[in-house]
Amino acid sequence: MTNDQSASARQAPVTVVGLGPMGLALAGTLLDHGHRTTVWNRTPGKADHLASKGVRPAATVAEAVTASPVTITCLKDYDTMFEVFDSAGDALRGRVLVNLNSGTPKEAHAAAGWAAERGVSYLDGAIMVPPPMVGQPGSVFLYSGSREVFDEHRATLASMGDPRYLGADPGLGVLYNTALLEMMYATINGYLHATALVGSAGVSAVEFAELAIGWFLPAALGPMLAAEAPVLDEGDYPGDLGTLEMNLNALEHIARTAEERGVHTDQPRLMREIAARAIADGHGGKSYLAVYEVFKNAAS
Ligand code: NAP
Repeated sequence: MTNDQSASARQAPVTVVGLGPMGLALAGTLLDHGHRTTVWNRTPGKADHLASKGVRPAATVAEAVTASPVTITCLKDYDTMFEVFDSAGDALRGRVLVNLNSGTPKEAHAAAGWAAERGVSYLDGAIMVPPPMVGQPGSVFLYSGSREVFDEHRATLASMGDPRYLGADPGLGVLYNTALLEMMYATINGYLHATALVGSAGVSAVEFAELAIGWFLPAALGPMLAAEAPVLDEGDYPGDLGTLEMNLNALEHIARTAEERGVHTDQPRLMREIAARAIADGHGGKSYLAVYEVFKNAAS
């Protein structure tokens, strides 16, 4: 491939379906990399702020899908993906779909079968960073399933983050995703519970973070949690980059993956229950850190 050819491959037209906080980050990053980017979302107007970057909103899913050779989708879950794309009839036939929502390996296998029945080339995947880190150095995207799709569209995938191919089994991406996220949630929960424990003696989260983060927390989470310590003290948890509802969905996928894989389920179930409790207490639209409100109180 010549330099010119590889430059044009990097700027291949792309469609993004699903414009929650993550889909918006994907679309914005693809536009920044020079891709002609068409978007569709159930609730219109979500990409209005990307108009100056040249985003192309489509009126229907079918119109969005046929605007580009590859569609990247980042909806709430697999059921939503089936519902959205089945509403577009045969529009995806002969095209490429890259799915980046969270879920379980069984669901990823079902999605690969669903795509094959419809003549769609399918790659499953998972995003290992929050929306502000999409496109930044060190942002890891996991992929599994069709090696051909991965190789052919690698340059486009690389515009969003570092693409890692895990193997032909379509469930591997979400299996790694749930395993890594379980580690992340368990670490954050340990930190928040420890903060509530010293908080019972009047120690602020900012004060505790100074010691706790250097002592234990891994490089990937430490700076984020240190920056968010004032949020814990203020008791306000903006959910604009991802809501507790979205995180409960991910915790549900972790618990179900543990069941599917025949490994012990108590730990993921407990984390799911704690997040569900925070939502029942009215924090569903806030960030994940709002589970701190559960840890601060004795009653449960
Ligand atoms: P989300 O709340 O999980 O998903 C929102 C998207 O799903 C919106 O486009 C929403 O459309 C759409 N949607 C939900 N129900 C629908 C339905 N019945 N029909 C059509 N569309 C529907 O938000 P997100 O944070 O962008 O996450 C998307 C995926 O990325 C999730 O699977 C999540 O696990 C994963 N992820 C998120 C993060 C993060 O930090 N945010 C990080 C890594 C991975 P409307 O706008 O119309 O509601």
